[in-house]
Amino acid sequence: MLLVRDGREPPRGIDNPMRLVFLGPPGVGKGTQAEGLALQLEIPHISTGAILRDALGRGTTTGLEAKKFMDAGDLVPDAVVLKLVEDRFAEQDAASGWLLDGYPRNLEQGAALDDLLSTLQLTLDHVVFFECDSAELVRRLGGRRVCRKCGNTFHIEFAPPPLQGTCSQGGECEIYQRSDDSEDAILKRLDVYQRETGPLVEHFRSQARLIVVDGGQSIDQVGVDLQGALGLPK
Ligand code: ADP
Ligand code: ADP
Repeated sequence: MLLVRDGREPPRGIDNPMRLVFLGPPGVGKGTQAEGLALQLEIPHISTGAILRDALGRGTTTGLEAKKFMDAGDLVPDAVVLKLVEDRFAEQDAASGWLLDGYPRNLEQGAALDDLLSTLQLTLDHVVFFECDSAELVRRLGGRRVCRKCGNTFHIEFAPPPLQGTCSQGGECEIYQRSDDSEDAILKRLDVYQRETGPLVEHFRSQARLIVVDGGQSIDQVGVDLQGALGLPK
């Protein structure tokens, strides 16, 4: 890592990019924490779920191909998601680092990411794993609401949507409930997470590459713990 003359790290940016992966079950708060941290570090927040929803909204071939998997709470095929990640890494803003949220999600994707990084001669700084019990995840996912315009995430109880006229894109937020936040799809996604992502988490843990954060706390407290775990000022 580069050091400036007084021994402190230089500011994050093109000469000192930060590359992070957020792992954890659906609803644990990866997106919520990623939004603020990516802004703070001035790196793009790359959410494969958001990229897929955007593709779906625009009616692209990829979006239409992904739709049936997403609606059912299943994983979209690895090759489809890998291509999205490769394309996103090639964009100019990704040169200053990135925060990858929702990828990788199984052992195959973990291996594909390792290969991609080695081809690009890049390394990961940290893999952060957010833990939380299932009952709380169901509560969070069931109450999750998203703004169609600014993409921000809210919760009917824990992070209520803003009042009129406060969308960062102007006017009011257009709040909707994701179709995969239905009760059936939530249970399916938690099951898929255990089966597919569980072994990947254990893989990272066995390599001692995992920073574990208690995601079951309040949004603010998780943020404080995350800053501390990454060695950032609180
Ligand atoms: P959540 O965090 O609530 O699980 P995401 O926005 O990360 O939601 O993902 C929504 C859906 O998009 C997933 O259920 C899955 O169908 C698809 N998806 C997102 N990322 C991946 C991925 N890495 N591999 C396969 N499918 C993905
Ligand atoms: P993920 O990206 O891991 O699927 P989100 O960031 O979308 O999770 O959060 C899921 C839901 O839970 C959202 O409605 C969000 O507002 C809410 N939420 C996130 N973190 C917390 C927290 N620490 N406590 C309570 N609710 C939270």
